[in-house]
Amino acid sequence: MGLKNPKEIYDHAIKNDYALGAFNTFSLETALAVMDAAEEMRSPAIIQVSMGARKFVKNLDVYVEMLRRLADKYEVPFFIQHDHCPTVEACKEAIEAGCQSVMFDGSHLPYEDNVEQTKEIVEYAHKRNIWVEAELGCLPGFEDFVFAEKAVYTNPQKAKEFIALTGCDALAVAVGTSHGGVRGDDYLPLDLELMKKIAAEKPGYPFVLHGAASLPPELITACNEQGGKVEYLRNCSEESIAAAVKAGAKKVNMDVDNFLVYTTEVRKFLNEKPSIYDPRKYLKPAEEAFQREVMHKMLKVLGSSGQY
Ligand SMILES: [Zn+2]
Repeated sequence: MGLKNPKEIYDHAIKNDYALGAFNTFSLETALAVMDAAEEMRSPAIIQVSMGARKFVKNLDVYVEMLRRLADKYEVPFFIQHDHCPTVEACKEAIEAGCQSVMFDGSHLPYEDNVEQTKEIVEYAHKRNIWVEAELGCLPGFEDFVFAEKAVYTNPQKAKEFIALTGCDALAVAVGTSHGGVRGDDYLPLDLELMKKIAAEKPGYPFVLHGAASLPPELITACNEQGGKVEYLRNCSEESIAAAVKAGAKKVNMDVDNFLVYTTEVRKFLNEKPSIYDPRKYLKPAEEAFQREVMHKMLKVLGSSGQY
């Protein structure tokens, strides 16, 4: 089946009341992990590329072309989205490189500037049949190289107004999740009532949750047992993310849990077999751990498994 139009994939998710997982990839191995997970779970997925990944792969157009060719090998549908573009220019580059959807993040800008710049990129993208995700509200934590300390929750009426003014196709909202987690003693509270109010403003519209990995302490412990020194940061629990999906989130970005199990597996392998230096030997089990984690999210959090 390969790549499909974002609208077609979203329509299916909205009609069947589940969320699309959006997973950041940065290599053939991580792309395989997500696509193999999707195929095995009979789930659609959004293959994402971040600014960090763009730097990592050096040639975004080549990487996106590889993703396109790879997607053709699978029966379940995918689309390719560029995550968090900080500027209109970065969005245009992502479109030129072949992404089917771009996320413009103007959430740190004053409201009027966010509207104006989002509108500019929407006009540019729609002429090329490209989908645009925007963001209103602000999540705490790190996103690539930018750190935000305080959350600014999304106002439901403003969200509706923002969509009308800009014509954006999907909107990321802030209801309690965090980019990469924050310091704390327990899972972060997710404001489900707010999620419901936002969704009620525009039924059937794809609202998006960013920073929706959960950083379960047991995953951090597993990494640290292999010699890691990963800080016990907190995010929203998987149960609350699953509830937010039922409350109206239709795309969910979840990355750090995948990165964590990937690293744990590399550490474990190298600890157990210190004489081996063939990277293929430790990258394959790491890829499989990444894949298992994505499958777990599809089954337990997104409700996207068995949909295709
Ligand atoms: Zn994000």
